[in-house]
Amino acid sequence: MSQLSYKPESCGELPFSDLHCHSCYSDGELTPAELLKGAADKGVGVFAITDHDTVVGVREFKSAAVEYEIQAIAGTELTSQWGRSMVHIIGLGFDETDAALTNYLKKIDELRLVRASLISKRLCKRNIPDLLPRALELAGSGQIGRPHFAFAMVEAGVVNNETQAFNRYLGAGKIGDVKVDWPTMEQAIDIIHQAGGIAVLAHPTKYNMTFTKVRLLTGAFSEQGGDAIEISYPGIESGHLLQLDKLASKHKLMVSAGSDFHKRQFHWTGIGKYPRYSSNNPHVLSKLLQD
Ligand code: AMP
Ligand code: MN
Ligand code: MN
Ligand code: MN
Repeated sequence: MSQLSYKPESCGELPFSDLHCHSCYSDGELTPAELLKGAADKGVGVFAITDHDTVVGVREFKSAAVEYEIQAIAGTELTSQWGRSMVHIIGLGFDETDAALTNYLKKIDELRLVRASLISKRLCKRNIPDLLPRALELAGSGQIGRPHFAFAMVEAGVVNNETQAFNRYLGAGKIGDVKVDWPTMEQAIDIIHQAGGIAVLAHPTKYNMTFTKVRLLTGAFSEQGGDAIEISYPGIESGHLLQLDKLASKHKLMVSAGSDFHKRQFHWTGIGKYPRYSSNNPHVLSKLLQD
């Protein structure tokens, strides 16, 4: 495949897509229907919902998509462990009712609940009021994570904004960064495959790793059966985008791209917003749209 250019007005061989996006069922603010409306306004033709460690929004997403000329893709962003690093593996185009996947996600749900309770206990030690009830309320029927604590902290006046909450209390190495045993990267890849989906290594340059380590990560991901890597997403430098594209060629991985949209107030993301690029590697859409 040659010179793919992903832009709304000129579809080239493939439609304009956004394959990484969060709803209110994880740490995003919009409902699936609101996301779809935003995507339609931006000319997105293929759109995936990829909430962290959950698929609860997928059915609603697919049925709301009927109103638009948008192909809705089932997705999720699985939290996993590679050595001592936490890495995110996106699953796309799977059967969201798959029993093994349901069971896998139920276990992560339990893990996240245990972690949430530990986070609130640790924060209490810093004289922060008990934020667990509010964080649970914010999470609703979806997944609970550190961003819900960050939001609750802003509401409680503990910090001025969510970034400050991460910088002071929740980010890597801070008191609220509670370590739990996430499934391994290989288990995440396997469960996506079992459910009939494509496994994509999310935002490889966003794990605070040297690029040498990113190369090792990509190699391991490929050896473990991974299918694709995200090469374009907000904040990526153009040099890194090219290097990731080369890594994709080297390991025979497909490429993917997405906005990682969470909230309108996060000015660095927007639905359908990620650097345009050209790649000679096959795009995940070429596989997703076959089915
Ligand atoms: P969790 O899944 O509970 O570990 O939370 C991870 C999520 O927190 C990521 O998906 C981001 O959306 C969000 N996040 C991570 N770091 C930051 C940060 N420094 N500022 C704001 N949000 C962050
Ligand atoms: Mn997130
Ligand atoms: Mn992520
Ligand atoms: Mn994400």
